[in-house]
Amino acid sequence: MQKINEISILSGKGGTGKTSLAAALATMGKNTVAADCDVDVANLYLILNPDDYKTEKYISGHKAVIDYDICTQCGLCKDHCRFGAIELQPDPDYPQGKITIVETSCDGCWLCSRICPVNAIEMVPSDKSFWYLGEYRYGKMVHARLAPGEENSGKLVSVVREQARKTADECGAKNIIIDGPPGTGCAAIASLTGANKVVIVTEPTGTGLHDMKRILDLAGRFQVKRYVVINKSDLNPDITDRICSWCEKEGVPVIGNLPFDPRMVHSMVACKSIQEWAPDSEIAASIQNIYELLVRS
Ligand code: SF4
Ligand code: SF4
Repeated sequence: MQKINEISILSGKGGTGKTSLAAALATMGKNTVAADCDVDVANLYLILNPDDYKTEKYISGHKAVIDYDICTQCGLCKDHCRFGAIELQPDPDYPQGKITIVETSCDGCWLCSRICPVNAIEMVPSDKSFWYLGEYRYGKMVHARLAPGEENSGKLVSVVREQARKTADECGAKNIIIDGPPGTGCAAIASLTGANKVVIVTEPTGTGLHDMKRILDLAGRFQVKRYVVINKSDLNPDITDRICSWCEKEGVPVIGNLPFDPRMVHSMVACKSIQEWAPDSEIAASIQNIYELLVRS
């Protein structure tokens, strides 16, 4: 199996420009594989607009379903559900209210199905989430959609990562660009695991600095090279300097100071990356340097 460069783009919080950078990096070299691992709020696929040729169901867990032909309405399941997923709901056929499972609240813990005295509860697979494989203008893309109320986003991210690797191997792609979720949750961990490089995108604000430290700390526990990109760095030079000083002290290279440029937003609205929308801009040149550094180092 060839060596594949897996580059994960993360941020401590949403709205830092993470997806804009991921889109730019994914539209710079032909035969790239892009992986949208922000499965709760997937946006990269909107910009890259892949033509999907494969769709697969993702079984995220199980949900409890009551068979009302058997249920005696004893209420035992309602009393024991720790997730508050079983309610008495008004129903003309049930004067006291009808025992009902709220699907989006059900955690799939199986408890109710085990304690129901008449075996009226069946656990059925949750199959409303999907992952997709498609082709976009610079290569292949894997993305996913987690159904509302579904959990296990980390597990779905792992599926997307695995498919991205398999695809890169099959088509001989050398680089996988991963748009990870914001924050430090299990989906961010799944986006980091096994990556060669992680780029943390931050903004020059007090909270930006704080959130960046948290995600860098998390990334520091993995075998991954860490880098920082400061977006809109010219809007607050003092905090930009503080971020650079802190990163220098920690040995984390700051590989890009991207200036504020409204064309970044315009490009997103037009479903293009900044490299496609304004290839001669200063910001596009800076991202070109970032790309060179990431794919060549
Ligand atoms: S425990 Fe079983 S029988 Fe009792 S209300 Fe729940 S589903 Fe119905
Ligand atoms: S499976 Fe667990 S979470 Fe879901 S309704 Fe039953 S007890 Fe509640």
